[in-house]
Order: sequence, then structure tokens, then C-alpha cells
Amino acid sequence: MYSEKLRERKLQDCLILIVDDQEITRLQLETLLADTARCSSVGSGKEALAFCEQHSPDLVLMDVNMPDLDGHQTTALIKAKPACASIPIIFVTSADADEDQSKCWESGCVDFVHKPVNACTLRNRVKSHLTHKLKNDLLEKLIYVDRLTGAYNRHYLDDYLPRLVKDGLRNANPLSLVIFDIDHFKRFNDMYGHFEGDACLWKVSNTINNALMRPMDKLVRLGGEEFLVLLPNTDIEGAVEVTKRLIDGVYELNIRHSASEHQRVTLSAGVAIKSAEDQKTIDFILLEADKNLYEAKMQGRNRLKAPSRTKHQKVVQLTPN
Ligand code: GH3
Ligand code: MG
Ligand code: MG
Repeated sequence: MYSEKLRERKLQDCLILIVDDQEITRLQLETLLADTARCSSVGSGKEALAFCEQHSPDLVLMDVNMPDLDGHQTTALIKAKPACASIPIIFVTSADADEDQSKCWESGCVDFVHKPVNACTLRNRVKSHLTHKLKNDLLEKLIYVDRLTGAYNRHYLDDYLPRLVKDGLRNANPLSLVIFDIDHFKRFNDMYGHFEGDACLWKVSNTINNALMRPMDKLVRLGGEEFLVLLPNTDIEGAVEVTKRLIDGVYELNIRHSASEHQRVTLSAGVAIKSAEDQKTIDFILLEADKNLYEAKMQGRNRLKAPSRTKHQKVVQLTPN
């Protein structure tokens, strides 16, 4: 059966990030939690933000007093990132006056642990929050993930895309969108049957997902054999590079399709970009990606079309195949 299994993750599979400017504290917490889950640690707020964007940990243990970005500022920055907003954060601090504690709760933490830590309490709090996180993840998967392909579904897109657009505008970052469509998929189904068609959809989706390098890059199944890839903070050159890699990856799968001019299953893609300064709505940008996809199909399939850097000129980029 070619459908995404709801694999149950275990506590030991979870990843905890420890953020503290004192190396001795980082080591102490890592040692205490070594049997509970996987741990990584960083010594500053800036590194914590980068780590969260890159690895999306299941829980963060956050020091409050740190030079440069303190724990509150770091927490606010993590919460502002759409892909990181649901990471639970526990403050671990010796500053426990009433107003210190209030400030921690207001920052959006899920819990508060006193320093010096009590080993037993720390472990149990961490276990309890990780258990909660695993249940939440499972529910999100049920709501947001398409069972046949393992890609996100339209509910996810409706919830996530507005947050991505807002984040791009706030940070003046471009958001690239790529619509992919399997070439001659109706013929594939007619020739090899629906079961093989489903298997092909799963393989293509899996190949795209594995080729996306950053956790914030997302694959959404728009419907049928049409997919959208969201590439936050990616300019047009970056988007073209990723799109070529994905088209080539599916070509390399070499799934036989004798009713296609390429004799194998291939993808066509339309790329579009929402830069922070342009006034176009995201729906308009999606329409642009769709038009570019249509032109890539008309030009012979197994290729992409993207806007060029100059505003009014467009180029068709051919894949090497
Ligand atoms: P083009 O190259 O122009 O994209 O042609 P196409 O045949 O891929 O596009 P068209 O929109 O005409 O047909 C899409 C086909 O995709 C229709 C249907 O048979 C197939 N399809 C859609 N969803 C599924 C699915 O969940 N499973 C299977 N097996 N086939 C599907
Ligand atoms: Mg400190
Ligand atoms: Mg198609």
C-alpha cells in the first residue's frame, strides 16, 4: 500500500536544544537528559535561532541571562518564524522573582525550571512536554498530511501560506513558489493502471521531499498529480536551482512511461516569486506559477519555466535531459 504510514515517534527520537552561554550548564543539562532524548546545545540566542530553523527541535531549554540576545528576545524571534512557532520552550533560570517569572510566561514559554535544577523534576518535565509534543505532531499529521503521498494538503497550505507571506514581508525576504505537475499522468494510469499510478505518485512525492534540504521548504499536494513547493527566503536563482534538481531527481527515477515522449515519468514546473517589495497578492503569484507551468508543458514537458531577473522578460530554462 503506497500511503504514508503514521509512524509513531518515540521519546528517544526527539531532539532537545539546550541554549545557555555557560558551557558547564550546557554539559550538565546534556548529561542529565542523555537517557531521555537526543540533545544538542548552543551558547547564544543567535545560534539557537539558526539551529531551530535548520533542525526544528522538539523542545528548547532556554537560559534567560545571556549576552547579546537574552532568552526572552531569542524566544520572541523563534516564535515569529512560522516553521518554528510551535516548538515548545522551557526557561531554565535562577532569576525567579515574581516579575522574572511573569516575563517568562509572557514570552510564550510552556514551562519554567529553577536553576540549580533538580534532576528528577527536570527529566519528568521534559518527558511530559515531549509526550505532549508527539501527540500534537500526530494530530497535525492527521489534519495536514495527505495519506497517499505524504505531502502536506490544502488545509496546511491555507493555514501556513499567509504566515509565510507575513514573515517574508516583515523580514524583507523573497518567497519562491513552484508548481509541479506529472507529465501525461492520465496516459500513465490508462496504460499501467490506477494502482501503479498511486505508486508513481508516492515515489515522485517522496523523491521531491527527500531532495528538499531545509525544514522550512515544504511540499504540498494541490490535488491529483499537481504539487506546490514553498521555498521561503529563496531568490529566483535559488528557486530555479532547486526546481532543476527536483525535475532531474524524478527523471533519474527512470519510471517507465512508454506513452510519454520522454519514455519515462517526468515533471514540468512553473516558478514564481513574491518579493517583499512587490504589491501582488499571493493568489496572483500562484497564478503566475500556474501560467509558467502551462508554458513549460507547451514547450515539450520535462522542464521548467521561471521569470527572469528583469521584470518583463521571461526565459524557458531547459533541464539537461
Ligand atoms: P499533462 O502532461 O498535460 O499534465 O497531462 P496529464 O494527463 O498529466 O493531465 P490531466 O489533468 O489530463 O490528467 C491528470 C490525471 O491524473 C487524471 C487522473 O487519471 C490522474 N490522477 C489524479 N489523481 C490521482 C490519484 O490520486 N491516483 C492516480 N492513480 N491517478 C490520479
Ligand atoms: Mg546565562
Ligand atoms: Mg499532469
